[in-house]
Amino acid sequence: MHYKRILLKLSGEALMGERQYGIDPKRLAEYAEEIKSVTDQGIEVAIVIGGGNIFRGVAGASKGMDRVQGDHMGMLATVINGLALQSALEDGGIQTRLQSAIKINEVAEPFIRRKAIRHLEKGRVVIFGGGTGNPYFTTDSAAVLRAIEIHADVILKGTRVDGIYTADPEKDKKATKFDYITFEDVIKKGLKVMDTTAFTLSQENELPIIVFDMNTPGNLLKVVTGEKVGTKVNL
Ligand code: UDP
Repeated sequence: MHYKRILLKLSGEALMGERQYGIDPKRLAEYAEEIKSVTDQGIEVAIVIGGGNIFRGVAGASKGMDRVQGDHMGMLATVINGLALQSALEDGGIQTRLQSAIKINEVAEPFIRRKAIRHLEKGRVVIFGGGTGNPYFTTDSAAVLRAIEIHADVILKGTRVDGIYTADPEKDKKATKFDYITFEDVIKKGLKVMDTTAFTLSQENELPIIVFDMNTPGNLLKVVTGEKVGTKVNL
């Protein structure tokens, strides 16, 4: 196997499937299957899940809500998604633990780095909810932070596009895909991979990112076995 321990970042919006809001159980079940194909190979999987399908702090703030209040709502939304994903994974026979960055002990374990690593070593999928636990951050930042903390080999950013393009492929027909790109080139070309805070944290810690299409069955396994899928951002 190419990677021993991965951190998979899934956006909240990915869980909507065909819906406009919330969680699509069918999509959850599909993701659970994809994840199982990877854990079956003995690969350790940690997941950071977003909350954009339920609430985003900036969206609240744009309508006059206090930003911090909104961000707290967003963080709670990621815990809701984490619970849903945990359920789907367990339905698929995968052992899991949900750890939250904000204390919510009846619902999820608190985030304890050493415990998370121990769970991974025992073959459990660890879902990190609650983002970083701080307002003004995103779950992309949480993904990079947790990946560094647990010594993940790579961050896999599962999206609905199959990699990083020279321009938005949905708007520009001439846009071409990169197989590989450096952190520096992403910044120089003004490409959007993650928010700047998350991206530079990854760069500074020499943690590669692979952006790939999570909605194509079999892709996740291909990525972890080193097949050329998506775009890899490296030093
Ligand atoms: N959030 C936050 N701190 C974090 C992570 C998330 O305050 O460390 C809040 C923020 O309001 C954000 C929302 O949670 O808009 C949902 O996270 P995100 O937008 O990253 O979700 P995604 O876009 O991946 O679905």
